Amino acid sequence: MKLVMRTASVLFLLALFASPAMAEKVRWKLAMTWNSTLTPFSTAVQNMARMVEEMSGGDFSIRVEGAEKHKAALNVLDMVKGGQFEMGHSASYYWKGKDITTVFFTTVPFGMNADEQYAWFYHAGGMELMQKTYDKFDAMSFPGGNTGMQMGGWFQKEINSLEDLKGLKMRIPGLAGEVFAKLGVNVTNIAPGELYTSLDRGTIDALEWVGPGMDIKMGFHKIAPYYYTGWHEPATELQFLVNKKAFAGLSPANQAILVTAMKAAAMDMRIENFADSATAWEQMKSEFPNIEVKTFPKEVLQAMKSAADQLYEEYAAQDPSFKEVFESQRAFMKKARTYYTISEFNYIRTVQELEQ
Ligand code: CA
Repeated sequence: MKLVMRTASVLFLLALFASPAMAEKVRWKLAMTWNSTLTPFSTAVQNMARMVEEMSGGDFSIRVEGAEKHKAALNVLDMVKGGQFEMGHSASYYWKGKDITTVFFTTVPFGMNADEQYAWFYHAGGMELMQKTYDKFDAMSFPGGNTGMQMGGWFQKEINSLEDLKGLKMRIPGLAGEVFAKLGVNVTNIAPGELYTSLDRGTIDALEWVGPGMDIKMGFHKIAPYYYTGWHEPATELQFLVNKKAFAGLSPANQAILVTAMKAAAMDMRIENFADSATAWEQMKSEFPNIEVKTFPKEVLQAMKSAADQLYEEYAAQDPSFKEVFESQRAFMKKARTYYTISEFNYIRTVQELEQ
């Protein structure tokens, strides 16, 4: 009897030690807000999934589904929360109807640029504030790739004064749309697939999309002559969402692999998009030399800034978490911008002056 029991315990211990090697392979699914063809957004996700598979030696894999398949582009957060997908890839500001504070984890008008924002996320409390916001959705949120500074958009007519904004029909989403609405712009939301035709037929007078790298594929430069510089989305960060329970169920090694792969893929998308935009802008200018790059007049920019400040004040008065994140970003931005001015910004300006 004793021997039987001892054999049983030995077998039990052996099974315990053997179990990691025999562990079931982890198979996850990820839903994107974008179609699989929307590069470089989709590339970031595919890169992340490839890195996870390679680093785990094939033990952990993530199947990526584009919106063309799951047909629920703006339901990604709910699907991750509900567990139908362990992961999502989207942009935090799409959830502003659920919680206005989510806007800060993408970008806000007159906010930080990408260098400043990544520094805030990883070294000045941003990740903790983002997680606090997403705890209520049973989800974890991680930076998922950045477009950098977005262009202010394609306009059929020049904007010379505040009067020119009155009644202008424009596609511009998010808080920037709310800012423009305060200035009399007739803000509309149109599906991406219909933007080109709407601008071409005059259904809208202007639109903003991303920047040269992604705009060139939409063809707006062929039909609108004015390309305005940005103010509204200075550092658009995409987002990896992870279901909390699913993450807790991963081995520590797989957790580390996933977190590292998301971070690497996000950084890589940022530089890929930068390279794409540099190349696309050179091509646009050579094929359509009449495109004029414009910056809104100071009067208009000042009105936008005042309207944005007013919006922040209104939301902060209604929502303590909005106020907390806003103040954290602004405090860090002040410090970061002071340094940026004597380093990156000064360097580019100095060299340009030498070459003039
Ligand atoms: Ca945009």
